[in-house]
Amino acid sequence: MGNSGIYKNIRLNKRCFDLFFFILFKKIEERDCVAMVYPSKLIEDAVNEISKLPGIGEKTALRLALFLLKEPSESTHNLSGALINLRDQTKYCKICHIISDSEECTCESVRKDASLLCVVEDTPDVIAIQNTAQYNGYFHVLGGVISPIEGIGPSELHIDSLIERVKAPGSEIKEVILALSANMEGETTAFYIAKKLKPFNVQVTSIARGVPVGSELEYADEITLGRSIAQRMRYQINENEQ
Ligand SMILES: [Zn+2]
Repeated sequence: MGNSGIYKNIRLNKRCFDLFFFILFKKIEERDCVAMVYPSKLIEDAVNEISKLPGIGEKTALRLALFLLKEPSESTHNLSGALINLRDQTKYCKICHIISDSEECTCESVRKDASLLCVVEDTPDVIAIQNTAQYNGYFHVLGGVISPIEGIGPSELHIDSLIERVKAPGSEIKEVILALSANMEGETTAFYIAKKLKPFNVQVTSIARGVPVGSELEYADEITLGRSIAQRMRYQINENEQ
């Protein structure tokens, strides 16, 4: 009885704290909104739209809007035209789901190692891996990772089409490389996909997690260093460098 009373009190206090901070932040937000007064409705509209972009606050949005006003009008027309085309004409490859100019798979046009399929979260990851010049296989873009907090489940991702690719008759895929972020969402997604691929005759691998090149060992976090030790690799001497 006594304990439940204490817990009730703690819960009540927590609610009071939450409400207090909610009101405080709301007040700060309102104050900030009131502070920005625009001399023109056109500027205000532009600032409102630009500030919807991630990482851009109202002040930066205002600076960008004023910058565009100072530039020749073609700059703004070219920018808005490019954005409209991006929005209306961008397509996704039906097979690997990479952002493309057509729904046909453009990656098929270049001869690659068909035994390798690298699974990534989004198109920028494809570009990053391609830029390493260390991978010559195909890609499969999931379009995100499993995230219960954001309400993203496996059905929202291109996981079914990945399974279809692997089990398709005539498929040459021998290894599926999971190149996902080293966070909880990435690990959950990798685990889910690995389980889904278990019945098929493919090797499932994950990109190595280790100490970044150029960094000092003593500054590496325990989890990264632990994995580096557990998944150590054979030291190879490159005869050409001697
Ligand atoms: Zn494709």
